[in-house]
Amino acid sequence: MNASILLVEDEEKLARFVELELMHEGYRVEKSGNGREALELALRNDYDLILLDIMLPGLNGLEVLRRLLKEKEVPVILLTARDAVMDKVSGLDAGAVDYITKPFAIEELLARIRVALKLHAGHVARGNSFSSADSEEGILRWQELVLDDRRHQVRYAGHEITLTNREFLMLKTLLENQDIVLSRDTLLNKVCGYDYAGETNVVDVYIRYLRSKIDDIFGVRMIQTVRGVGYVIKSEK
Ligand code: CA
Repeated sequence: MNASILLVEDEEKLARFVELELMHEGYRVEKSGNGREALELALRNDYDLILLDIMLPGLNGLEVLRRLLKEKEVPVILLTARDAVMDKVSGLDAGAVDYITKPFAIEELLARIRVALKLHAGHVARGNSFSSADSEEGILRWQELVLDDRRHQVRYAGHEITLTNREFLMLKTLLENQDIVLSRDTLLNKVCGYDYAGETNVVDVYIRYLRSKIDDIFGVRMIQTVRGVGYVIKSEK
């Protein structure tokens, strides 16, 4: 069965163009140009993927995203305006899997859709196939912090910490490379992919979120800044 996509975009010409391209690729497409209507559609139907514009009548795309992901898990790619860095960061933090900046080449959008669908399929398969509770595989530790990659879980001294996908990935990357200083570029490539080259301020934003959720709460200094170079988690205090 072909993947189904909900396309949420109020610019009619762009929406029609993308719809035709998606249909040409064999996807089943539904369209909406209104945030509130899109949210209702997305809650009622199970789409394989959602393309979501941010500036929308009815309800802002970020708000649609937040409300939707509270109810169900579905990969969302945001369509954002150029230079809207805060929108991108808020969107990724709210759980979008990716974003693409308008105007975009249709080939790039199609490539990102394929990646998002593939990653999501893998995620679902992994979630269903592992149940071993006591295996150390996929477990990373720092002091009292335990990251369980298979369960996508982080705990500090037994307290569960809720992280977004990108925060989780960033923490995992730092934990896997303890005592190695990782540059912002390296972290960006690891966490967001090469398409985000140059937008290293995104890394600083995620580090800030991680510190506010872990360091500040548990009174530790886990992630250290190495001025002019990047970030590191040191195995010894
Ligand atoms: Ca719009």
